[in-house]
Amino acid sequence: TKTPVTVTVTGAAGQIGYALLFRIASGHLLGADVPVRLRLLEIPAATKAAQGTAMELDDCAFPLLAGVDVFDDPKAAFDGVNVALLVGARPRTKGMERGDLLEANGGIFGPQGAAINAGAASDVRVLVVGNPANTNALIAQQHAPDVPADRFTAMTRLDHNRALAQLAAKLQVPVAELRKVTIWGNHSATQYPDVFHAEAAGRAVKDLVDQAWLADEFIPRVAKRGAEIIEVRGASSAASAASAAIDHVHTWVNGTAEGDWTSAAIVSDGSYGVPAGLISSFPVTSTGGKWEIVQGLEISEFSRARIDASVAELQEERTAVQGLGLI
Ligand code: NDP
Repeated sequence: TKTPVTVTVTGAAGQIGYALLFRIASGHLLGADVPVRLRLLEIPAATKAAQGTAMELDDCAFPLLAGVDVFDDPKAAFDGVNVALLVGARPRTKGMERGDLLEANGGIFGPQGAAINAGAASDVRVLVVGNPANTNALIAQQHAPDVPADRFTAMTRLDHNRALAQLAAKLQVPVAELRKVTIWGNHSATQYPDVFHAEAAGRAVKDLVDQAWLADEFIPRVAKRGAEIIEVRGASSAASAASAAIDHVHTWVNGTAEGDWTSAAIVSDGSYGVPAGLISSFPVTSTGGKWEIVQGLEISEFSRARIDASVAELQEERTAVQGLGLI
């Protein structure tokens, strides 16, 4: 039998946590033959609720689940962690300035990064879901100087999946027939869902859709899908976010399919004019457990302007957290 992989989930008592934990425990995160040990981190006020979720996880009698523990201390929660899913974050509340939001999240992601630095396993992989995800990931990464920077990532896979779904509906092709869609930049309203290199059932998507549809319907629809879900469902998306987190880690560990890529926010090496060090979304492949940015894509003027706008927002966020002394 294999040694269990230790997976730590923060914000475990939240909506996304509830949708995520059962799928991890049933083998969807890493594979149907990989046992997992779950460590749930919550703020003290929510540890009781997390205990309740832990009891339900026990009651599922998942054959792959080697144990569940609940913590309110990041040092303990990240001890020996192999996969860290940072879901809990401070949401923006009414009247909150951006600086307050960044500061509150700095207080969460700084100590979590330090705890990962102190106690994580040498193969640790970190995915940040809690918003503002890219900048929270940057804060955590900057507090973990001994962990290779490329182990810190933020989630744009939900945006990627939303783009696939919109494109499949528009072109009337199954999602499985779509390839090479890209989300660039920040996981925010400035993100750029790019289909200029995409293929649908072997045909170039750019020949199948017009620019007006892209600019006026597709791009805003994908970028604002979160708000649309809140409007219709009466609560923010949770199961789809959890599913995307599963996809991100599964692809990272098990690799991308030949002839395709996906989207993930990873530390920039300066590719495509994205300043080095920013955690920005790119077209990526994964081989041998490592993300690689797809190189050499031609970037049209239409795309360039949109990538630049989202990257400018990431730079502003980085400058703001530097100004607050958070990194
Ligand atoms: P959710 O589980 O719904 O969301 C958690 C985070 O994921 C939020 O930051 C949310 O951002 C973000 N997110 C990213 N992508 C999406 C998406 N597509 N749709 C929805 N959310 C997305 O929040 P809950 O309030 O239900 O639960 C949060 C939990 O985290 C609480 O139990 C709280 O106690 C806990 N927490 C734990 C901490 C810790 O472990 N140290 C620290 C802080 C909180 P957005 O706000 O923009 O929707």
